[in-house]
Amino acid sequence: MTVQSPKNQIPNSMSARDIAHVLHPYTNLVKHETAGPLVIERGKGIYVYDDQGREYIEGLAGLWCAGLGFSEPALVDAAIEQMRKLPFYHGFGHKTTPPVVELAERLKALSPVPVGKVFFAESGSAANDTLIKLIWYYNNARGKPDKKTILSRNRGYHGVTIATASLTGLPANHRDFDLPIARIRHVDCPHHYRFAEPGESEADFVARLARNLETFIQQEGPDSIAAFFAEPIMGAGGVIVPPQGYFPAMQAVLRRYDILSVSDEVICGFGRTGRQWGAEALDYQPDFLSCAKQLSGAYLPISAVLVPEKVYDVIRDNSGRIGTFGHGFTYGGHPVSAAVAVRALDLYRERDILGHVNRVAPRFQARLRRLAEHPLVGEVRGMGLIGAVELVADKASKRAFAPAAGVGAACMAFAQEEGLIQRAVAGDSMAFCPPMIIEEAEIDEMFDRFERALERTATLVEREGLRQAA
Ligand code: PLP
Repeated sequence: MTVQSPKNQIPNSMSARDIAHVLHPYTNLVKHETAGPLVIERGKGIYVYDDQGREYIEGLAGLWCAGLGFSEPALVDAAIEQMRKLPFYHGFGHKTTPPVVELAERLKALSPVPVGKVFFAESGSAANDTLIKLIWYYNNARGKPDKKTILSRNRGYHGVTIATASLTGLPANHRDFDLPIARIRHVDCPHHYRFAEPGESEADFVARLARNLETFIQQEGPDSIAAFFAEPIMGAGGVIVPPQGYFPAMQAVLRRYDILSVSDEVICGFGRTGRQWGAEALDYQPDFLSCAKQLSGAYLPISAVLVPEKVYDVIRDNSGRIGTFGHGFTYGGHPVSAAVAVRALDLYRERDILGHVNRVAPRFQARLRRLAEHPLVGEVRGMGLIGAVELVADKASKRAFAPAAGVGAACMAFAQEEGLIQRAVAGDSMAFCPPMIIEEAEIDEMFDRFERALERTATLVEREGLRQAA
């Protein structure tokens, strides 16, 4: 049966199965055949509305990305204006467009570390994939052809291409995809609550992780390790805020062995943590940055890689020897996406979004931390306008629920019924990352809805005996 509707709306008489022609990302495809999709039709501010007119607070800003909400006319106008002027042009072979030139200047000025050039792609995955290639190319060019292994962390998230899904340290991204590929290795996740030894202080935990890193590098051979990728705060891995001193301790080791560091700012960039970049908030001084998502407020796809001068110089000379820098995407630096991104950066500044985040974050963090008292909540964590509550079967022992119990998924479903869209990540951690324009009253409303969902989850857990589930 084909969907035919002049307004592109799904006729009420159609079942979920009839409309299931989309292969959904990150979805249990078996369940989907009976559950069907939630069809989101429109948005306003921090809210989205489904095809039945029901309202939801978008507690995850879509996918940690719609920082300016879902109805910003200035971004729409920027797109229309650029569409009319020049709907497409590319950057291959010495070409460029004004919005791309402007955006590169803006990012260079915003960068926390000295930047030589900015490379544009269209997704976070493509930016990180580019970075792996750039680092390999750079090390070949500087006569270090064996220095190629890339380190990332267990539970890190860096994308879904073959190389970036390999960097991602989550089992579902590897299993049955024959990943990770060679030359990508994972080191410890800096989650004190889950991975500290009994009685281990945060400082001792950090020192142990740095020692483990050094031992790993020595065992592998320092001349084989090229780079270390890290999100300042891990998002999809459970919103993990590393303990104080983590990045300085790790970087002290990396620097001893000439290992480059990358800050994946795809979620943390542009004010999410209360600082322009997550790296600044976490005392991380990377060589490279990648960013996407909030770069354009998510209104159009675009991502960027900030390349340091010393690396650029080597890449430039190598491309001269080869005859070209043989890398680039058709839609990398799309002029309409770039025009929207320039406008988004204007709005962040004109409306002092960073100041706003810092004004409302205390309310957000206070409401989040209040949940720590709840019997189902093992840990509450967050910074700025990002956070999570981890649901556990037993608070004292930190015992997690059995994955098959589906407690996080149930909580997410209850939240949706209560009018809140959020995500259960890394099992049963309920993540919050609302549009950065959220106001205090809306923060209260978001947590009120979540608290109702949490109560319903607690009732379900007791009724079904899910604490005991093996
Ligand atoms: N890096 C981080 C930290 C992310 O959270 C994501 C996506 O959520 C990516 C990279 C991949 O970005 P994309 O989905 O645009 O490929």
